[in-house]
Amino acid sequence: MHLTSLSALFTTILFAFLSLSEAALPGTWPLLDKPPPMKPEWASLVNIQQLPKAPIQTTLAGNCSQAAQFCIWSCNTCTRSASDIVTCPGTKEWGISYDDGPSPYTPALLDFLKQTNTKVTFAVIGSRVVERPEVLQRIKDEGHEIVIHTWSHPSLTTVSTQQIIAELKWTELAIQTAVGLTPKIMRPPFGDIDDRVRSIATQLGYKILLWDRDTFDWKSASDPSFQPSWIPGNFTQWVTDGNSHISLEHDLYPIGAQNAPAAIKIVRNAGYTIKPVSVCTGMPAYVQNVQLVASGPAPPNTTANGTDGTANTASTNDTSNNSSSSSAFGSHHLLSSVLLLIVISMAISTL
Ligand SMILES: [Zn+2]
Repeated sequence: MHLTSLSALFTTILFAFLSLSEAALPGTWPLLDKPPPMKPEWASLVNIQQLPKAPIQTTLAGNCSQAAQFCIWSCNTCTRSASDIVTCPGTKEWGISYDDGPSPYTPALLDFLKQTNTKVTFAVIGSRVVERPEVLQRIKDEGHEIVIHTWSHPSLTTVSTQQIIAELKWTELAIQTAVGLTPKIMRPPFGDIDDRVRSIATQLGYKILLWDRDTFDWKSASDPSFQPSWIPGNFTQWVTDGNSHISLEHDLYPIGAQNAPAAIKIVRNAGYTIKPVSVCTGMPAYVQNVQLVASGPAPPNTTANGTDGTANTASTNDTSNNSSSSSAFGSHHLLSSVLLLIVISMAISTL
């Protein structure tokens, strides 16, 4: 075989193995960011006869004529106190939440949270958990809260009951497989929820997490006029009322993730205690008995009171928390290495 062809073959196979080991969560999973199929055994979890007859919308907040009857959040931010979490009920408490990850930007944010002893809530996309289970393991190990945020991020009022069940249960299954936890809280994409979606989520055993402060940082991904300083600017304004809040940011986008530390410094310096939302509301985070805690005082010699406003991307000295996740996925890397050696041997034998 010609040496150039051999080199190309070798490179192709090498990249194939590397990408194989990146898809780290064991099992067979639906396509990334695509509506997942329904599993027949999930159908009996929801009694369709009990569902309010809210019409399936054709677009997000497309028809608000029945907004009052079916409490459609996207129309008028209507909420139901029995099922919906909108803010922290205590005094000067703040639920910081990040949506749509795990992403390539989540680890640097986790580094900052660890350095400053800050505990928050992550609403994760099931298909991205399959891509980055080791990041979800860090989220769990470092004391943050995990909330279900669907598999493919649809507007839930626009999809069928079967599709909603599949979106939530596949995400729950991915989280269970990755870290062994079953969340009891879900967050609807775009906050899009009505009484039909509420009833489905409630019958599946979830409380519904909304928010009362929104950075709109997701616009940074598509709007070139979005100014990163708007994110800390929002928080600077919000802390002045002294009330408790739950805020929405995104760790999916670089500008959102990179400005998250500045926002945390503002909230902490204003005298707030940052808590996972299950801690501030007193609701269980998971089916399993896991006690999450509030943020503690920032250790000395950290950037908690600094003014740079950027995530410290240096890796932390303490890697003990990652050891269990490393071992869980280490077998994939070992397998790849063995296969790689076989390929090299085969390639040499063809010379
Ligand atoms: Zn989202």
